[in-house]
Amino acid sequence: MDFDGLKQLMRDNGIVGCGGAGFPSYAKLNDKADTLIINCAECEPLLRLHRQLIEVRAKEIVETASFIAKTIGAKEVVIGIKAAYKKAVAALRNQIGDSNFVRIHLLPEVYPAGDELVLIYETTKRVIRPGQLPASVNVLVYNVETIYNVYRALHGHPVTHKFVTVTGEVNQPETFYAPIGSKIFGLVKRSGGQKIDDPAFLIGGPMMGFLGSDQDVVTKTTNAIIVLPKDHPVVLRKKMKPRIDLKRAMAACSQCSYCTDMCPRHMLGHPIDPAAFMRVVSNQDAHNVGPYLNARYCSSCGVCEAYACHQGLSPRILLGFVKNNIRASGIKYPDYDGPVVPDEEMDFRRVPLKRLVARLDLEKYADPAPIYEEPINAKEVDIKLLQHVGKKAIPVVKINDHVKEGDIIAHYDDTSLSVNIHASIDGTVSEITSTYIRIRK
Ligand code: SF4
Ligand code: SF4
Repeated sequence: MDFDGLKQLMRDNGIVGCGGAGFPSYAKLNDKADTLIINCAECEPLLRLHRQLIEVRAKEIVETASFIAKTIGAKEVVIGIKAAYKKAVAALRNQIGDSNFVRIHLLPEVYPAGDELVLIYETTKRVIRPGQLPASVNVLVYNVETIYNVYRALHGHPVTHKFVTVTGEVNQPETFYAPIGSKIFGLVKRSGGQKIDDPAFLIGGPMMGFLGSDQDVVTKTTNAIIVLPKDHPVVLRKKMKPRIDLKRAMAACSQCSYCTDMCPRHMLGHPIDPAAFMRVVSNQDAHNVGPYLNARYCSSCGVCEAYACHQGLSPRILLGFVKNNIRASGIKYPDYDGPVVPDEEMDFRRVPLKRLVARLDLEKYADPAPIYEEPINAKEVDIKLLQHVGKKAIPVVKINDHVKEGDIIAHYDDTSLSVNIHASIDGTVSEITSTYIRIRK
């Protein structure tokens, strides 16, 4: 297979980044990249599917990563994985042997080790300039499940299922292989049911995830469902409003600068400075626009609010608010042309994961959530037409059509970033809306 063939395979089979925003994987492929990095940092507290997938599928992942790297002409594959994931590291070592094409880079147990820019610096010492992509330093990064999806596509299986860890206040935390479009309440039920009445459902990790409901559905980017009490600190933090947070910042920001000192992007030398931002925003200072414009370099990792700030303030929420408003108003950012120098003291300022879990009051939920590779059943699925960055896929089925698992039900929009969407179960199309296609078994 050549470069274009691999690109088309990824697009046809609906492969996107399995977490985060779901950037289409075909659009990341880059034939100038000399290094393919596999991201197995999995640094969000309570998430554990990538390390478990490696434990059972190391062979497929190493072989597929090597295949992709050779197809794009890269010189090496680097697997960035935390030393703490001992079983997964052993499985990889067993597979890699004395290869001089694939190497493991052991990462410390810190947050956010999986931030793409942090991971690239950690594994290659290359620094991506603010606003630039990994391609600018000739690197390509995919996560473990994305590589596994390429393996499946090479064997004729498009993306129809997603590994999802269900944990928190459930009787039996587990990691399922769920049909895309399955309802969250069904997965919680399969995990032995919720232990508390009227919980909150956190979709994704405690740091970067969002609050949803048990009626939400699994998408290609759903890594975890964390069931928590509604008054849990993580839930309360997710409910904070910029308007209230601004007032709190005006009253309580001490300008200690801990948020800036510990900001992972600031430590890489990027011009994001949450303390300076808090100063201008809480003083409603319109003279100094730099901190507002530099909000774009915030990754929303949450270190500033969840760990650094001793006053419980949230630079992340206010930065996000400003960033979204600047984007919505169509203002074009000036390119950053200043120096980018990583902080020499970075190693001493990182956030230990264990301390973060304690700070977030999540220690009691840190149980194993064993992986089950056997796909689970669903009687009905609502498959979203937009599960990726870019444009919605366009339905190619009609009501009452019979479809089989793996059939294309919506084709990518050729005019933009977009990937195919496939049926995740055998059944009949019972509803088509502007946002999803419902299939009943
Ligand atoms: S959320 Fe806070 S710590 Fe993270 S990148 Fe943004 S400003 Fe920095
Ligand atoms: S850590 Fe908190 S109090 Fe200190 S500067 Fe940042 S927002 Fe203000």
